[in-house]
Amino acid sequence: MKASGKEPTRTLTTADLCHSCPARAVVETVMVQGRSLLWCAHHFALFENVLKALGATIRVDERRREPILQKTTPAGG
Ligand SMILES: [Zn+2]
Repeated sequence: MKASGKEPTRTLTTADLCHSCPARAVVETVMVQGRSLLWCAHHFALFENVLKALGATIRVDERRREPILQKTTPAGG
C-alpha cells in the first residue's frame, strides 16, 4: 500500500453496495479499527447515530451528489 500522506477522496461506484441491503452505497464510513463499511442513504440515516457513537468516520458522502430517486421498482430477487 502506498502512503502519500494525504488520503485521496475516492468515489463510490455502482459496484459499491450497502452493507445492509443491495442498494448502491453513497456513504463510506471507517470504523476505529480501520474497517470500512458502505451504506445507502437509507441505512446510513438509520445507523448514523450508532456509527457516530462507535467513533466511525465518514470517508465518502455522496448523498448530496446523488439525488434520492423516489422510483418504485418491482420487487424481485
Ligand atoms: Zn442499505
